[in-house]
Amino acid sequence: MILSARYAVMRLVALIEEEAARNGYERITNIVITLGAQESISTHQLTSIFDEFRNNSLIKNSRLIIKKRSTLARCRYCGNIFEVLYVKNRCPMCGSTYMEFISDRGISVESVEGE
Ligand SMILES: [Zn+2]
Repeated sequence: MILSARYAVMRLVALIEEEAARNGYERITNIVITLGAQESISTHQLTSIFDEFRNNSLIKNSRLIIKKRSTLARCRYCGNIFEVLYVKNRCPMCGSTYMEFISDRGISVESVEGE
């Protein structure tokens, strides 16, 4: 798990480097990353893995903001898609408890700011 997380962070850093090159940034100030609701890595783990890459001068002093996306479910009765706030949630449209969770994995870069 940690190995694949390290690989994911490596890919993120590569994306950030591309974005910096495209915008002519010499250093990155802010990075916003979104984390899928079903992603097993925590924001804390992600932050500490990211910190291992800070010997890269481009991101050395950047601020990393991680947004965890909320869990979504689809009601199997009426098809409504809603945010699951607690395990025994019901569909807010029809009240059914017959639902399937929508898989939401992956780590992606939402925005990069630099100068
Ligand atoms: Zn429903």
